[in-house]
Amino acid sequence: MRFVHDTLPQRVTFGSGEAAAHLEREVAALGASRVMVIASKREMDTAERLTGNLRVLLRYDDVVMHVPVEVAARAREAAATHSVDAIVSVGGGSTTGLAKAIALTTGLPVVAVPTTYAGSEATAVWGLTEGNRKTTGTDPRVLPKVVVYDATLTLTLPVPVSVASGLNALAHCVDAMWAPKADPINAALAAEGIRSLAAGLPKVVTDPFDLNGREMALYASYLSAVAFASAGSGLHHKICHVLGGAYNLPHAQTHAVVLPYVLAFNGPAAPEAAHRIAAAFGTNRAIDGLEDLRREIGAPHALRDYGFAEDQIPAAAEAILPAVPESNPRPVTVAGLERLLRAAWSGADPKSAV
Ligand code: NAD
Repeated sequence: MRFVHDTLPQRVTFGSGEAAAHLEREVAALGASRVMVIASKREMDTAERLTGNLRVLLRYDDVVMHVPVEVAARAREAAATHSVDAIVSVGGGSTTGLAKAIALTTGLPVVAVPTTYAGSEATAVWGLTEGNRKTTGTDPRVLPKVVVYDATLTLTLPVPVSVASGLNALAHCVDAMWAPKADPINAALAAEGIRSLAAGLPKVVTDPFDLNGREMALYASYLSAVAFASAGSGLHHKICHVLGGAYNLPHAQTHAVVLPYVLAFNGPAAPEAAHRIAAAFGTNRAIDGLEDLRREIGAPHALRDYGFAEDQIPAAAEAILPAVPESNPRPVTVAGLERLLRAAWSGADPKSAV
């Protein structure tokens, strides 16, 4: 066994109902006393409740998915005007993304309180959108110093959003198995992430207020993000990145739909990865484990339901190809990508369509 593995420096606290206390302790430990709180309008009440004991100079709710550059510029200016010395973000990946955009140019420490399973809080990846072009990069300054997990904050996440977001986390795990920097450490994290999502998500769907199911999903979303941050973007993330940026498709739902097609495409060419994924699901074949789970939780199943048009497939395939990692276990061609996208567009059976 030979590998080189980087572990990102980050403190993680996990406790249901404990976010306010953890935030107070962690912000004090950072020595911060001029806090900017970022939350979307929907999450601002929750954010106010959690940050009541902090010295907050600015509450900021101008959050937009995929962080348009002009939104980032306004938020940076607001942070500078108030001379804040730390950012607390409360929300999903869009909110964490705005905090990261500020940290990218200011170096301000971020304490992230995630309320979805997107996992942005555990990566050093930032994303900004200009027009319909999404740019991403990696920078240690954007990695939140602390993540405060509290599963009670996810109880309000509607079931369809929970399902899509949970499958976004599952996609981090599956793609980590063959991404360019895949190694035994991130594979182990990814496998535990798959196991915990497969156990937790059905509980969330059966009873959205089942705290145990929510905790399993949230714990798994952290593992998935650590695995993804370490292994890098594989074929799945490259496809979804182009679809999200160029066609403005919703992030989590796009991941949820595309994942089985990438697994069906790559799985047979990556037997060890497929075996690990299957073992984590407790099935003989990886694709069966994923499809069983998707059926059980009512997963989104066709890109055409999310605004992607059939006649956009050829251009999308051309745009994806140059980004596909050379190390992908199966050779990728424009024709192969078109077949995959056509299947994902229509929601065809992944086992026979790619
Ligand atoms: P999101 O943050 O846009 O949230 C989705 C919706 O759920 C929003 O309407 C939000 O207000 C609502 N919501 C969030 N938490 C809620 C709660 N607890 N209860 C009720 N409603 C709630 O979506 P997302 O999928 O979490 O994040 C997507 C964004 O994150 C994308 O821009 C994506 O590129 C980015 N992302 C980045 C990384 C990274 O490593 N940089 C990783 C994953 C995702």
